[in-house]
Amino acid sequence: MTTLEYLVTDAMKSEARVLQCLTLEDGSIGVILDRTIFHVQGGGQPSDVGTIGEARVLKVIRTESGILHLVDREIEEKEVVLSVDANVRQWHSRLHSAGHLIGMAIETMGWRAIKGNHQPGQCRVMGTKVDESAPVPEKEAIERVVNAWIDVGLEVRLTNTDGLRTVTWGDLKAFPCGGTHVQNTRELTGFTVESVKFKKGELRVAYQLADTNG
Ligand SMILES: [Zn+2]
Repeated sequence: MTTLEYLVTDAMKSEARVLQCLTLEDGSIGVILDRTIFHVQGGGQPSDVGTIGEARVLKVIRTESGILHLVDREIEEKEVVLSVDANVRQWHSRLHSAGHLIGMAIETMGWRAIKGNHQPGQCRVMGTKVDESAPVPEKEAIERVVNAWIDVGLEVRLTNTDGLRTVTWGDLKAFPCGGTHVQNTRELTGFTVESVKFKKGELRVAYQLADTNG
């Protein structure tokens, strides 16, 4: 079992012990650590990337064998230094956090978010109707609500109680989540809703942020 330290710390550097280094069926190399600060792909959010010692971390995934860090070379079973790419982490955290705000915005409009995809270039939040009389939200209406929360600068609020981790910003409603998040909604610059579609009972809100990483 790997302790998921990113759930309780935003540290970008740390140490861990390599428990196992495996060669997978497709030839890729996976490393299992005793603890990790790398966010594991899931909940619509891509994994962190970075380095373990000299090895590059390409992706971190959950498998039947445990949490696998896919790396570009073999690593001995020893103590290693972990380093997360902070720019990539920040970009993913921003896109994912914006998805939360969309979910909260559509809740005020009679809808509920059911899932999201926060991969760069494919960001969208899917929702379902809660109030039967609710019209399909307008793109501008969602932008207005979310941008108001961004402009006011709400601080993140994380709780960890009995293994349940929740997140929100300011006084907004908290949701269970194991992802990575921005400290303040002000970091979500350049938020725009690209389109709002409603098909086969599912609402689909596509969105984008300014890429501040250049
Ligand atoms: Zn989240």
